[in-house]
Amino acid sequence: MEPWESLVIGAGQAGLSAAHHLLRRGVRTVILDADEAPGGAWQHRWDALTMDDVHGVADLPEAAAPPRGAARANRAVPDYFAAYEQAHRLDVQRPVRVDSVTSVGDLLQVRAGERSWLTRTLVNATGTWTRPFIPHYPGHELFRGEQLHTAGYPGPDHFRGKRVLIVGGGASAVQFIGALAPITETLWVTRREPVWREEFDGEAGYQAVQMVQERVLQGLAPQSVVSVTGLALRPQERRAQELGAYRRRKPMFASIEEDGVRWADGSYEQVDVILWATGFRAALGHLAPLHLRSPEGGIQLVGTPGAGQTPTQTALDPRVQLVGYGPSASTIGANRAGRSAAAAVVRLLSAEPEAALG
Ligand code: FAD
Repeated sequence: MEPWESLVIGAGQAGLSAAHHLLRRGVRTVILDADEAPGGAWQHRWDALTMDDVHGVADLPEAAAPPRGAARANRAVPDYFAAYEQAHRLDVQRPVRVDSVTSVGDLLQVRAGERSWLTRTLVNATGTWTRPFIPHYPGHELFRGEQLHTAGYPGPDHFRGKRVLIVGGGASAVQFIGALAPITETLWVTRREPVWREEFDGEAGYQAVQMVQERVLQGLAPQSVVSVTGLALRPQERRAQELGAYRRRKPMFASIEEDGVRWADGSYEQVDVILWATGFRAALGHLAPLHLRSPEGGIQLVGTPGAGQTPTQTALDPRVQLVGYGPSASTIGANRAGRSAAAAVVRLLSAEPEAALG
């Protein structure tokens, strides 16, 4: 079968944006997505998360995102994505979980179980939701209580009457404390001192994105954009603040025991639940056969010419674009990256094959 000109893996914000720009530029593209239904990671977020709780969902190209309000984010955003796929005739094949991508001469071979596709270029938009990160602490396996990660957060009611230790210094931890401290006993630990801001200003966000961008241009592992913008309390977190719930216990505990956690100085806290709000890593295991990692531990991206372009092209294989990765790991960044990736694909497809791939 004739190879595709481009193949997009993942149909969250990043994949939909990339697919839209590719198709608009006339690139013959196929989109594969592992989920049963439209919505990317948003369909898996907890029921209690409303559109008022999220930091903001950027508009996909040419379509206004759902407004703020009391609607459940795990319904409103998937409905928006589903309507977008239909309106823009994005033919997403699902559920298709890609297992591997290998290089076959000038082409890339994408495999999912028994099925496979050949393509000249690839846009990877697989997000992070499927790779929750939990740091290792001695005694992890001894704990008899419950351990949960953000990816499996069941909503506040589950925690009533339980003593909950929340681990992590990002936006999710701040939200969980805001929801849980008014209804049950909470403790908070973070590895680093949190940086507080009065509110999110555009300049801080811009600086954060630049910092992460610098890292990926050097081949370093990206830090999360959100983790470097700093933390701000919103009205729905004021009650927890009044209760003193944002006073963190420091430093981090040294080990986990059967019923709680112990610090290096010997002190001990009994807890019923450890809630790991410790973030996610990029879900890129299927790209391992391409050996895209640099010795610095990340995947180096190269800048694309043109003002406002987000780096998406991998330094070691120009056929592969990463969107929703590093500096573009936010809904607004994912949108921009989709456009940059499509431009890079078009440049590559129109170049001489030897020049483009060499
Ligand atoms: P996703 O939405 O995760 O989409 C990835 C898609 O790839 C999925 O549909 C998945 O099925 C598919 N996929 C994964 N692996 C494979 C595979 N091997 N084969 C085929 N398909 C695959 N950002 C904001 O801008 N505003 C917010 O308010 C906000 N809130 C957040 C709240 C939480 C709890 C978290 C964890 C993140 C939040 N973010 C927010 C970050 C934001 O979610 C992301 O930057 C953005 O939505 C991710 O879009 P994406 O397309 O990169 O990934």
